[in-house]
Amino acid sequence: MPLFQKPFGGDFPLTNFFDHNLPFEFEDTNGFLLTWWGERTGGVDGHSGYDWTMPEGTSLRAVADGEVIFAGTRQPFFCPPLGQTVNNQQNVMIRHVAPNGEWFISDYAHLSRIEVQQGQQVAAGQQIGLSGNTGCSGGPHIHFGVLRQTNTTSGQSTLVDPYGWEGTTPDPWAQHPQGAQSFWLWKEGQAPAIFREFHLAPNPTGSTAPVTITAVRWMGWKDEQNPNNEFVELTLDLRFVPSGTFDLTGFLLRNNEGESFSFPSGFQIHQDLPVRIFTGSGTNTAIELYWGLSQGVWDNFFGDCAQLLYPGGGRYGMGFSSSCVKPGAAYFSFESPENGPVSGIAVIRGWAFATQAGVSITKVELFIDGVSAGDIPCCPDRADVQAAYPQFPASNTLNSGWGTTFNWGVLSAGTHKMRIEIRSLAADLVGVATRTVAIVKAGNFEFLDQFSLSGATARIEGDQLVVEGVVVRDKASQQKKLVNARYRWFTSSQSLQTVEAVTTATISSLRSFFTEMFTSLSARVLRLSGATTAQAAPGIGQSFESPEVNQVVAGIGVIRGWAFTDTPGTSLNEVRLVIDGMPSSFIPCCSARGDVAAAFPANPNALNSGWGFTINYGNLPTGFHTIGIRFGDSTGASLTDDHGVTVVKIGGFEFLDQFNLAGATVQIQGEEMVLSGVQVRDKASQQTRVVTVRLRWLQSAQALGIVAAAG
Ligand SMILES: [Zn+2]
Repeated sequence: MPLFQKPFGGDFPLTNFFDHNLPFEFEDTNGFLLTWWGERTGGVDGHSGYDWTMPEGTSLRAVADGEVIFAGTRQPFFCPPLGQTVNNQQNVMIRHVAPNGEWFISDYAHLSRIEVQQGQQVAAGQQIGLSGNTGCSGGPHIHFGVLRQTNTTSGQSTLVDPYGWEGTTPDPWAQHPQGAQSFWLWKEGQAPAIFREFHLAPNPTGSTAPVTITAVRWMGWKDEQNPNNEFVELTLDLRFVPSGTFDLTGFLLRNNEGESFSFPSGFQIHQDLPVRIFTGSGTNTAIELYWGLSQGVWDNFFGDCAQLLYPGGGRYGMGFSSSCVKPGAAYFSFESPENGPVSGIAVIRGWAFATQAGVSITKVELFIDGVSAGDIPCCPDRADVQAAYPQFPASNTLNSGWGTTFNWGVLSAGTHKMRIEIRSLAADLVGVATRTVAIVKAGNFEFLDQFSLSGATARIEGDQLVVEGVVVRDKASQQKKLVNARYRWFTSSQSLQTVEAVTTATISSLRSFFTEMFTSLSARVLRLSGATTAQAAPGIGQSFESPEVNQVVAGIGVIRGWAFTDTPGTSLNEVRLVIDGMPSSFIPCCSARGDVAAAFPANPNALNSGWGFTINYGNLPTGFHTIGIRFGDSTGASLTDDHGVTVVKIGGFEFLDQFNLAGATVQIQGEEMVLSGVQVRDKASQQTRVVTVRLRWLQSAQALGIVAAAG
């Protein structure tokens, strides 16, 4: 619906988008703005228009012919960002009739001067006033909003996005009872450019760097398709380079995540010729360099920090919407998950330590799709990290583990972005890392309590095990579906993991959700009272969920459960693994468990009760072992819960770097699958062996587990 022309001349940086989820300014609190192409980004949550920063006094023009329906000072209203009532906000609103008869209103806010009157007819492009900083505004900018008056869901006028909606999922605002469908309203070539940009003078804080970062443009429209939306600008500071030329050989440009661009050997920056480093591809010139990436490199959601690293150490950094990661303050690793498909219940884990003596890691926070999912418990012993970094303080490297268990089933199928932020001391950001995972769910269910192979068929295709006709049942709804699934060996988990699951039929809906919930709740309460009666008050309520009692275990497994003290004012101070009666590692505790909190609404300690970590069962001798978890609380009370398990080792090896299905066959026997002729290789010795393994679905892991291995 081409109707509008640009409301101003030139291009200006954008600060806030129209939030498609949802445009209730100062009321929406989901933590992000959803752009019209479906990307989550930061800004004023619930923003209902577009904010472009521009100097006060910039000419503003009517976007189309129309009638001025408001011109003047708005009624006083409370402005949350300023914390006060504002009574001087100047707005102009113009009503336009589109060629198809639809009515729209354009709204221009925070003006310094108004040059039209209510009731006046204006022509497209006519100056209506000058931009300003009046009312609910923290700096000179224009807030441009659009209302649709016709064909809205509620029949009332409502705010819409003049850029329309191009997300791959339905527009949340179009689906909302108070919302409406948005359309691209701009005439050809008239849509104001979309980018976020920040400028700074060279060495503004008194530093003496020869080459400085003077601008960053980090968010345009669909950066993954147009990476040259982004650039970083470098400027030579003549005060410190009298020759007027500086050689950037050996310099790196880096983001907070550690991705870096190396300057071409012999590249020189000259006075009065700033150099822009674009993210995408192009031909290098004296003032334009191209990183050559096929997606954006500067973080649109969290903000980022452009850092120019000197070959001899040191750096020049410019943070935007984020602090700069302190270089060298910490070493860290995001060990699991890897990028790619994930399924079932897994451990999100890694390690981090501060490099300086007496400094500790204070916070490891997990974000999923830009929203905080909470702090990850840290820092149990990691003797392997201590051994790998003998040059750093031993207590720092030892207490470096972090981890939490996570049911991938609670996220929607498809791609999700995870981010870890590591902080130390006064909340200094010392590390960030991201992963992009693809959630695979059998039947698209959250948690399966049945995975029946009795009517299924299985075959090997390349490096994948293909199982067709599995009946899966969702625990919550008791709904059943028929599923075809594909599995592949993952070295990192030493197990077969789902890489694809396709639902072929929905079978039936059986028992009601409430019956099921009652049963599972009762089971929990029974387990809890069993635990509390086992010792003197104050008690520790707990459940050791995985491995199950008498489970056969192999590869890398998740050991997990929950625990909390049932007396207010007391807390758990020890969750420790005990193998065959011998105390072993401390386990990270206590992450949020909404299900446990729901089951024990009277106990505030129940929420932060999750514990979990991974164990390589390959490190234990084959045969029966006792896996115990010892819980201790601040009153000195303790208890241990033991689960007997039988360890099997594939080929008798500790850690496989190959699990080759090429020459293998598969057979279904009852509820187990037998894989014969699998060639496996031991990582340490590089010895190979041909083995037979038996697989079975394990509810506690929501995954196929190896329950026997021979050969
Ligand atoms: Zn605004």
